[in-house]
Amino acid sequence: MKVSQRINTQKNVIIIRDEIDRVLNHARIASHSAIHFLEGKCDSATQTDIRKIVATIPDIRTVSLLRGNEIYCSSVFGAQFFRLDAQSTPPLGLSLMDGNALTPYRSLLIYRTEHVGKSVMVGIDGYYLQNKLKTNDRRTDYQMTLNGLTLNAAGQVLTHRNNTASARYFSPVYKYQINANPVVPVSPDVLLKTVWQDEKLGVCLTLLLSALLSTITTKTLSHRNTLLFMLKKALDKNELIPFIQPIVEAESGNTVGGEVLMRWKHPQRGHISPEHFIPLAEQNGLITRITQSGLRQVADTLNSGDIINSRDMTLFFNVSAADFMNHDIIDWCRKFMRKTPFSGWQIGLEITEREPVEDTQLVQTLCEQLDALGVQISIDDFGTGNSNYRYLMQFRPRYIKIDKVFTLGIETDASKEAIVRNIIAIAQDMRCMTIAEGVETASQKVKLAAMGVTHFQGYYFSKPVDMATFFQNTLNTLP
Ligand code: C2E
Ligand code: CA
Ligand code: CA
Repeated sequence: MKVSQRINTQKNVIIIRDEIDRVLNHARIASHSAIHFLEGKCDSATQTDIRKIVATIPDIRTVSLLRGNEIYCSSVFGAQFFRLDAQSTPPLGLSLMDGNALTPYRSLLIYRTEHVGKSVMVGIDGYYLQNKLKTNDRRTDYQMTLNGLTLNAAGQVLTHRNNTASARYFSPVYKYQINANPVVPVSPDVLLKTVWQDEKLGVCLTLLLSALLSTITTKTLSHRNTLLFMLKKALDKNELIPFIQPIVEAESGNTVGGEVLMRWKHPQRGHISPEHFIPLAEQNGLITRITQSGLRQVADTLNSGDIINSRDMTLFFNVSAADFMNHDIIDWCRKFMRKTPFSGWQIGLEITEREPVEDTQLVQTLCEQLDALGVQISIDDFGTGNSNYRYLMQFRPRYIKIDKVFTLGIETDASKEAIVRNIIAIAQDMRCMTIAEGVETASQKVKLAAMGVTHFQGYYFSKPVDMATFFQNTLNTLP
């Protein structure tokens, strides 16, 4: 192995080890936070508290309290009892599993700690660990080995011993190691050898491959550049148009607001999805123009038409980290309010974790100013990122949005139900309302309402529609 490759491998192993140590620190914190609940009963307050641990500490999937080998309180099943047989009772400390009753095919890491005859069992989703093992290094497979079991980057838990590792690193804190295994190139290698035996064919193939590769690379780059160029032009020409999707109050069934979602219909290329142009705009410093354009266009429409409502309604705008880099957002919100003084429409800002907002003095000042203006904050895509808890402390939101990945399958998927219960518990504790996104069926609506979600959004109620349709429908339904 070349020296540069070896240095690269060692660097990767150290990064992976540090990241996994960080995940395991979260398990330790979760276990420490749960240990004093072992003294009390599994009443609803305790159940809420252990669910809050799951919702607020990154990477944690489950927390369970055990008496001997009996689970008597858990974040997933509340006060239900489960007796584990000797084989499925995890030992004290860390152990790897290739699934459990809840998600039988998904790897899991358990951290179990004991306290006066009882114990706390914290479950970490193997998915988080598996992601840490993925790198750009195509020549090396990175694996985590713990008590004779090995987790690979595909999420499989393997029992065989690994003797081929070119580098092994033990964590200084926890009893596991990271192995780096050189990838043995099988079929392409054999194929090339055969081809090289016929020199002419080999040369032709090499030329063909490099031509193909350069075409693909050029096409990908030029597609990105073209899209970026087109996006700049579209912004100049105001081709990005706000659509609005209604938000419905669970208790009354009334539309109480909407989320503004930008639509881009290119004259030649047709509809271009926000999933493509929003990340591109975020990476290239254009996102603030999109935020400003959305606020301006909605305010102009409210100002020009007779769109006054008798109740307070909120229009939510998506904002990105770049919107919190300076004071412009305050000016744009002020302008919106100045243009629509008597309309009865309020502003909400949805903050996602796609690109994290730093916790700086500037951001704190912005939050205070937004609060003073009456701008409502909503944390978007809650439960899908890592800074959930920090965001709750930082932004003190009025709403928490439950991402559509949790809504899809909520009626049948016990782990999604558990996550949503956790989110609702923490929202209630922080006196926040919850908006469940992606509601597509009546059964999802019924289930989420029974669980205590306060607001809905999704195709079951309406797709995002143009502003004229939204305001017309909303005003028609006002009492
Ligand atoms: P998001 O904030 O999570 O918005 C919700 C997405 O779910 C929207 O996708 C919406 O059309 C879609 N959706 C709503 N109801 C349902 C449903 O019942 N089922 C399913 N499967 N999907 C549903 P859309 O409009 O494609 O937007 C994608 C993302 O682009 C948004 O995700 C948001 O993060 C971003 N985005 C859109 N407009 C803006 C914007 O003006 N500024 C910023 N910063 N981001 C934006
Ligand atoms: Ca959103
Ligand atoms: Ca979402």
